[in-house]
Amino acid sequence: MLKKSPVVLRLAAAAALLAAGRPAGARPAATVPTLRYTLAMPAPQSHYFEVKTDLGGFLADYTDVKMPVWAPGSYLVREYAKNVEGFEARSGSQRLAVEKINKNTWRVRHPKQANFQISYRVYAFELSVRTSFIDGDHGYLNGSSVFMYPADNKMLGSTVVVQPAAGWAQVSTPLRPATGKFTYKAASYDELADSPMEIGNQKMLEFTANGTPHQVAMYGTYSTDDAKLVADMKRVCEEAHRVVGQNPLDHYLFIVHNLERGGGGLEHLYSTTLEVGRTTYGTEAGYKSFLGLVAHEYFHLWNVKRIRPVALGPFNYDQENYTHMLWVSEGMTEYYSKQINERAGVISKEEYLGKLGNAITEVENTPGNRIQSAAESSFDAWIKYYRPNENAINTQISYYSKGDLIGTWLDLNIAEATKGEKHLDDVFQLLYDTYYKKAGRGFTDQEFQDAVATVASRRYDDFFQNSVYGTKPIDFNTTLGYAGLALTNTPLSTDGTLGANFSNRTGKLLVANVIRDGAAWNTGLSATDEVLFINGAAPSDETVKTLLGGPVGSEVKLQVRRDGLTRDVVLKMLPNPDRKYTIQPLPNPTAAQQKVLAKWLGK
Ligand SMILES: [Zn+2]
Repeated sequence: MLKKSPVVLRLAAAAALLAAGRPAGARPAATVPTLRYTLAMPAPQSHYFEVKTDLGGFLADYTDVKMPVWAPGSYLVREYAKNVEGFEARSGSQRLAVEKINKNTWRVRHPKQANFQISYRVYAFELSVRTSFIDGDHGYLNGSSVFMYPADNKMLGSTVVVQPAAGWAQVSTPLRPATGKFTYKAASYDELADSPMEIGNQKMLEFTANGTPHQVAMYGTYSTDDAKLVADMKRVCEEAHRVVGQNPLDHYLFIVHNLERGGGGLEHLYSTTLEVGRTTYGTEAGYKSFLGLVAHEYFHLWNVKRIRPVALGPFNYDQENYTHMLWVSEGMTEYYSKQINERAGVISKEEYLGKLGNAITEVENTPGNRIQSAAESSFDAWIKYYRPNENAINTQISYYSKGDLIGTWLDLNIAEATKGEKHLDDVFQLLYDTYYKKAGRGFTDQEFQDAVATVASRRYDDFFQNSVYGTKPIDFNTTLGYAGLALTNTPLSTDGTLGANFSNRTGKLLVANVIRDGAAWNTGLSATDEVLFINGAAPSDETVKTLLGGPVGSEVKLQVRRDGLTRDVVLKMLPNPDRKYTIQPLPNPTAAQQKVLAKWLGK
């Protein structure tokens, strides 16, 4: 992944031949392309990064430089070029001609092999793990949203010099240090794009896991026992390592943003950025959820950063990169985040089974699960999962939650087929060895299924076709039985339901969404309708309860406003179709069942 491209190698070889074949002084030897970024932030309160990029040695008389449209790991075209302004190019004192040839490409005309510099500013005021942000307190960036690359030399190595704002003493990045203060090197643009930076006065914590130094850059106010936090993170990282059993790291960085609200992360090759509510650590559930996020993002260093579908690297930064397998890359990472925390003792076996029951409940009660397959959900992530509308619940299923369940089914079936000798870990080990280490590429859909078949000595073609690439419900009764467990379900509520969700976040009581085939769906209540009266009374804590459920068959009269006009709607409560799924141990499990259970839980 960090190898230089053939283009660069050819240029390097040509330069060497020219240098060797000509008498000294006859003609200047062809130069090898060079690339050096300087990142400045002289006025952080204005939310701008300033980027200067020195380029040289390109053989053509023009160079196209590009800003990615997306950040790997977050499957949405975000158009980072929209935040670029003041693009200029110079060679010495000479201003060069620049033409913007499409939304994210600038064509710079320059003398052949000349050294030239491009400069531009990036407005950075979106604090998320996928974007860039700078204010008077700190700066954060994703490489793909700030740094441009020469289109024909994406694999060219570069030097990166950071000039922090006045008074800022820390730069935290997984990039390797080079000679000079705050100076780093990137082996390719892929590495630069995959290396976030936190710049400011963040607190640094450290620990060693799997024989590798790990750093934790903590931005923002938070309150917890750092020694305990670091010890628990180490425990989670070491348990995650046992899944594949091979450590590709020589360093690793966690960047943690402690904010008013948070709860997400983005994985990178040698790092991750986590966004956490600053009070998260204060409750047991919150603390465990943080360790769940740590496990999820850390497991990504294997699953998706190295064990990956063919479409997910090397990346095309110009457009969507399509795969049918985000249920592997994200869903099974979610599956393993819970597995790892159970194996590490962060959560108990009972808590794990409770979470799995909740995951089944969530998937089974989502109408979209009967419309969209996990494979379709993956492929259309760019236009659906990342861009949900009010009808998403009816038409989509999350490849996270569905992939979590697919992982459960496969893991238990492999353990059963091998009499408790193998499990899903062995599939990931095989994929790591075969595709990441030996072939140096990602795997195809068929190759993933073949890897499962190799480990289990049994094929699951029908399961993949019906329940992964199709929408047939996953049979958990049989599967959990292999481990001496049973899945039961009860009505989520005996009350009737209107089949609609409501929201009052804007100060108005609005219909948030209408559930497929429910009372509101059948009657004609619409998402975005504003509820003015409930059974003749204005919305209040008391009257709003009526909307949440009531006796089956009872009527609710609503007056709603739509498009500026009022209308009356009479709804009749229908039985609530949702079920609550619970996993219980069977009495007197057999020795075979106990062996499958032990293997499944990594014991
Ligand atoms: Zn993830």
